[in-house]
Amino acid sequence: MKCPYCGSSRFRLSHLRFSDLVHLLVVRYPVRCRLCRERMYAFLPDALRLRGSLHASKEDAPVEK
Ligand SMILES: [Zn+2]
Repeated sequence: MKCPYCGSSRFRLSHLRFSDLVHLLVVRYPVRCRLCRERMYAFLPDALRLRGSLHASKEDAPVEK
């Protein structure tokens, strides 16, 4: 996935707006380009992967017994 405005492949999740609901129905989630800050829609699994990369330190999670 690349930004159509600047070609960057770095994105972060954007905040949801009411008008995004129609996009969620077609499994698209709003993201924002980290480089040019343009807002666009990504395929939902791709967007969720962005969220996962923010919390990639699962190894540090405490183990409960
Ligand atoms: Zn961009």
